[in-house]
Amino acid sequence: MGGEEVVVRRGGRAASLQALVAHCTEYGFVFPSSEIYGGFAGVYDYGPMGAPLKRNVKEYWWRAMVQLHANIVGLDSAILMHPKVWEASGHTAHFFDWFVENRKNRKRYRVDQVVEAWVDRLRAEGREGEARRVWEAFEEALRSGRSEELTAFFRAYRVEDPEEGAPGDWGAVRRLNLMFVTWAGATDEDRQEVYLRPETAQGIYVNYLHVQRSARLRVPFGIAQVGKAFRNELIFRQFLMRMREFEQMEMQFFVAPEESEEWFDRWIDRRLRWYLALGFDRSRLRVQPHKHLAHYAQKAVDIEYRFPMGWKEVEGIHLRTDYDLRRHQEFSRKKLTYFDPFKQEHYLPHIVETSAGVDRVFLAILSEFLVWEQLDEGSGGGERVVFRCPRWLAPVQVAVFPLVRRDGLPEVARRIFDALSLHFVCAYEEKDSIGRRYRRHDAIGTPYAVTVDYQTLEDETVTLRDRDTLRQERIAIPDLIVRLKELLDWSELLRRVRES
Ligand code: ATP
Repeated sequence: MGGEEVVVRRGGRAASLQALVAHCTEYGFVFPSSEIYGGFAGVYDYGPMGAPLKRNVKEYWWRAMVQLHANIVGLDSAILMHPKVWEASGHTAHFFDWFVENRKNRKRYRVDQVVEAWVDRLRAEGREGEARRVWEAFEEALRSGRSEELTAFFRAYRVEDPEEGAPGDWGAVRRLNLMFVTWAGATDEDRQEVYLRPETAQGIYVNYLHVQRSARLRVPFGIAQVGKAFRNELIFRQFLMRMREFEQMEMQFFVAPEESEEWFDRWIDRRLRWYLALGFDRSRLRVQPHKHLAHYAQKAVDIEYRFPMGWKEVEGIHLRTDYDLRRHQEFSRKKLTYFDPFKQEHYLPHIVETSAGVDRVFLAILSEFLVWEQLDEGSGGGERVVFRCPRWLAPVQVAVFPLVRRDGLPEVARRIFDALSLHFVCAYEEKDSIGRRYRRHDAIGTPYAVTVDYQTLEDETVTLRDRDTLRQERIAIPDLIVRLKELLDWSELLRRVRES
């Protein structure tokens, strides 16, 4: 853990986490929340470059899920829900983390993560028998549900601190409920405790029959939703990986019970393809089965990405069976069965869930595509930082520059900006040398730059520069829109998701 590897990719040096964070602040991708007050841990704000990139990530997900599938529809349910929802879902009883502090270095950890890391290390050293014994003892302590047992396990087995590689001086294992609580109601008498949702899924479950009937859907069908979720996390070390307020892109797929495993496998493939279509390297993505199943899951895998700080989950795919619908049926006393017109029977569908974190995908995109590249002499020499952002998702799609700020070039460039900005997200800049303007847009990921130069005044052509190849083609102004539309057309990306 701790140390970061130097990775060479896409012809350049990949960013360390520290370099990523610095880049995000400098170029307006992400800022720490409330920084002037010293910040607020685990909360971040997206800046002028981050906000559009994040929107585009969500747009891509929505199109890949809703637009490409005739049997998947969208929903936008509220953050606040009836408190009973969280009782039924099991969150009030089960949604907590066990955590422990190493008194030597005052570092806090989630117990499952410490034990998993240690067991993995024992295995890597060929100490399989020991790894198994540790894991079994840990599971037994977990099953007890008591902090005393877990504390005793940590001390008796002298569990290693993953950052020290030596047994920790472990304090008592403690429990932290992950749901944020607030109050609704004006007076003390009608005050009611309500939760900020810790996942968007429940809004889908409680609405599923409304959606199914109004959209005239038949099993198998899906409901997709993007929205904020809140978790009172305890440990923040890795930027956007673990936040108190974050966003999820969740799709719940309702299937006949006997087909659930088949759909589970199918959705793992489809979701993996979503990342590969963007150009992620296959070697930095993996599918990991869960060692510990959540209270609702029959089967579960994570899609993990190899971040600068190691392999981390970006998306979970869970086979939730009919757990949630059954519980809501029980707690609400409303019949939630679906009538299958082919089988002529009523049943509770089983659910395959795909749940991706917008912020983690955002961080994965930066980790994968932001590089420091050595330029050859022909391209001006030196190093440039370039965000090879998949072009459909780039915060700015086209930058328009006059070569210099005189001789009528800005006026022509302005007119081009006005015409292009009806179709694309454009930037117009005339300050600084043209080289510096190119570098700045390389760093924020702008895939194309249009430059108006002296030749433009003679023959109505401009240069169109490609961020990645650095090639510049000369193109007639009237052809620009068609050419850029071709280059930025989403259908190519979506075709890759569907077919590749
Ligand atoms: P972890 O084990 O890392 O805490 P999880 O298994 O609890 O994650 P899920 O409940 O499966 O996560 O949530 C689905 C997705 O939501 C995760 O894959 C992740 O991308 C995102 N997510 C969950 N918690 C957070 C968080 N605190 N900050 C940012 N994203 C999160």
